[in-house]
Amino acid sequence: MAATLGGMENFGFETRAIHAGQGTDPRTGAVIVPIYQTSTYAQDGVGGTRDGDYEYSRTANPTRTALEAQLASLEGARHGLAFASGMAASDSVLRSVLRPGDHLVLGNDAYGGTFRLIDKVLTGWGIGYTVTDLSEVASVRAAIRPETKLIWCESPSNPLLGIADIAALAEAAHDAGARLVVDNTFATPYLQNPLALGADIVVHSTTKYLGGHSDVVGGAVLTNEDELREQLFFLRNASGAVPGPFDAWLTLRGVKTLAVRMERHCDNAELVAEALAAHPKVTKVYYPGLAEHPGHEVAAKQMSRFGGMISFRHADGESGALAAAARTSLFTLAESLGGIESLIEHPGRMTHASTSGSLLEVPDDLLRLSVGIEDASDLITDLRHALK
Ligand SMILES: *Cc1c(COP(=O)(O)O)cnc(C)c1O
Repeated sequence: MAATLGGMENFGFETRAIHAGQGTDPRTGAVIVPIYQTSTYAQDGVGGTRDGDYEYSRTANPTRTALEAQLASLEGARHGLAFASGMAASDSVLRSVLRPGDHLVLGNDAYGGTFRLIDKVLTGWGIGYTVTDLSEVASVRAAIRPETKLIWCESPSNPLLGIADIAALAEAAHDAGARLVVDNTFATPYLQNPLALGADIVVHSTTKYLGGHSDVVGGAVLTNEDELREQLFFLRNASGAVPGPFDAWLTLRGVKTLAVRMERHCDNAELVAEALAAHPKVTKVYYPGLAEHPGHEVAAKQMSRFGGMISFRHADGESGALAAAARTSLFTLAESLGGIESLIEHPGRMTHASTSGSLLEVPDDLLRLSVGIEDASDLITDLRHALK
């Protein structure tokens, strides 16, 4: 039942989410891909694996293979690789592409864990980096050096919802002989396909919208490059950052409903963003769907809708923000994002604490919302109460 990566290009997104890589089980007719909870596979004589793919589950597992084919299909990629977490996926990309002496360009707004990995781990291996504003292509071009091998981009970015022009960044990277990586966690492949815009590599924290139910940690890398796929596969097998079969299955299951969930996340976020923009205790709303957002036009060009993430600043500073975060009842005070339930958090003290004192430091009056798929008016009532 080795899944085929191709063959479904002519089907719509929702169809591919449910069928790509997921044929019925040839032996039993099981409609849903089984959880192959096995570490090893019987061989017919030494070296005689039964279908050529499976000998040990660190190397490959059929449930994981199905997930990889599904995700590759949704991002329009030739190759998909699933990892134990988003950070394992990012780490594998960085260590497959970069060598001591190489340099990368990183946005001034990025997931705190990505910044920590680059700043605290990779620099120890002789890799340099420059932080810049990715929404300004001229400043990206100015940050590129002869030894630059990667531009690392989030769009929308975490937590300030900055928008980078992915096609323009890809051109800047390619002019310099470098690659563009897009962390597409916030947009998901339903709203944005970076490879089609010219990016070379897409990474995901599948923990977020792809899994979609806050019950699994995982990551993925998608690319069209055959040789890079071999390097990533080799490194993953050598270092072992693989998801277990049950985690792969939960993610596969979550992705089947991505399209319907994302439509509701977007509907709700648009209503919440408007309500916040009109609220006297809110000084600024960061949501690319608002016409006043500086990246609105670029977002409208490269995304089909604007996503479910919103950040905003509280008029009473950090103490006001902390108090509001403690007063919601439907929005749970918690890290992470992208699940069906709404979450609120204070990036400065929670997800982005590792950026304190750096160029990526976030404002202390900032709150970030992951708008879930509950009833929108209940969510707005909850926020109004918390902001009183
Ligand atoms: C959560 C997140 C990550 C890290 O993913 P994990 O699954 O937590 O390891 C990377 N990038 C972005 C944008 C994220 O939100």
